[in-house]
Amino acid sequence: MRSPRFQHTYAADLPERLYARPYPSSVSRPRLLELNETLATELGLDIGWLRSPDGIEMLAGNRFPADVRPIAQAYAGHQFGNFVPQLGDGRAVLVGELLDTSGQLRDVQLKGSGPTRFSRNGDGRAALGPMMREYIVSEAMHALGIPTTRTLSLVATGEHVYRETRLPGALIARVAASHIRVGTFQYLAVREDIDGLRALADYAIARHYPHLAEVPRRYLGFLNAVVAAQAKLVAQWMLVGFIHGVLNTDNVAISGETIDYGPCAFMDAYHPATVFSSIDHQGRYAFANQPRITVWNLARLAEALLPILGSEAGGDDEGFVQAKAAIGLFQARYEAAFHEGIRHKIGLFTKQPGDLDLAAELLDLMARNGADFTLTFRDLAHEVDGSGRVRNHFIDPTAFDSWASRWRERLAREPENAADRTARMRTVNPKYIARNHRVEAAIAATTDECDFGPFQSLLAVLARPFDEQPEMEEYAQPPADEERVLQTFCGT
Ligand code: AMP
Ligand code: MG
Repeated sequence: MRSPRFQHTYAADLPERLYARPYPSSVSRPRLLELNETLATELGLDIGWLRSPDGIEMLAGNRFPADVRPIAQAYAGHQFGNFVPQLGDGRAVLVGELLDTSGQLRDVQLKGSGPTRFSRNGDGRAALGPMMREYIVSEAMHALGIPTTRTLSLVATGEHVYRETRLPGALIARVAASHIRVGTFQYLAVREDIDGLRALADYAIARHYPHLAEVPRRYLGFLNAVVAAQAKLVAQWMLVGFIHGVLNTDNVAISGETIDYGPCAFMDAYHPATVFSSIDHQGRYAFANQPRITVWNLARLAEALLPILGSEAGGDDEGFVQAKAAIGLFQARYEAAFHEGIRHKIGLFTKQPGDLDLAAELLDLMARNGADFTLTFRDLAHEVDGSGRVRNHFIDPTAFDSWASRWRERLAREPENAADRTARMRTVNPKYIARNHRVEAAIAATTDECDFGPFQSLLAVLARPFDEQPEMEEYAQPPADEERVLQTFCGT
């Protein structure tokens, strides 16, 4: 058996003020509930070792291999619009980085691992339910082809955490391209730490955008690259009905991965104003606000980078103008990605005038008729020849009929045959998403009855979201009225 070979480039390459050593803390009776063996293999990890007592001690945050010294990363962030100059890993530690089988460096972080200098009044721990939610939803996002942090393991601590009630404790190992956030740059900017900013930007470039390392204005290139990655990411969320829930600047990764699954959710019935998070009273992070809020978050990144953008551009004014232009490009990039995606979702092979209106009309009808987002698009593939049942997803089925006849006229202006079109639509419109009521049922079965069956079935179904899985049909269905989950909780 082989213990993992961690690297520690973050601690080695960056100033010590960007991290702290966590306080010693351990859990009494760790139990490995789930190990993501596919991901472990991708990371070059020895599954036998991970399942051994030493492996479990590491995944529980109790004891690490000899050369491993975990760190808690410092960051700041705007939370619901209010700037907090110091947040940081209050209940997480970066164990180290691993070179994966494709040659990429990936962070392995434990979440729920105990208190650090950044814990403020928190206990540094996490409850089982939210950790299961992160596991399920992050892996579902990955299977949908959406950039995301991953989940390597779920460990029950054998201890309780105290929130509104007493809950079982757990931790996960989270795997990320890196954990550098918009808020990591803000942490340095608010301290006027220009050397730190430059070091962090160079580190982030080397890790995520290495082609920029040698270009003349690399920090502007970096800002542009993050804007492009975020525009694409948010478009992908909007195309599957995903709501992040807490798009604070500390929850925006500069790698372009989705990070920090708290009160997130996939919509069932489509409505652009949908909000799930119990703490989002104003609807700041409502579904349709996500592109706008992301521009706002990226503007905070641009602001943080201004000192190094200015010196690179030969003047603060010049740096400012360039930063503004970079942020201004978000909208066009977002629309390009979203428009291409939505055309594919309604089965269009070519670009023709009126296509986007046609798509917008469908979304509008869906919103007014409480149509299920996922099933409407999925079942549209059967409507190519007019034999489907999509109309049944609409409160007023005739609203769909009139749209569908215009849609079929549009399809007739393309030469593709129905079979090809249907097949292609199925590769972009998933059948299975992490529906809230299923996530909640899996958590309840585990916490109330120690039954992991529903959790494991859900993970298995969601690993193949585009495949027909006839024996798993019920997982595709929206909730019955009494199963509907209206709010999701941060559960920190
Ligand atoms: P989040 O809502 O998970 O993005 O966390 C926001 C901030 O609160 C981060 O700095 C976290 O590390 C910190 N935090 C959240 N929960 C806890 C906890 N139970 N103990 C200590 N810090 C926490
Ligand atoms: Mg966070």
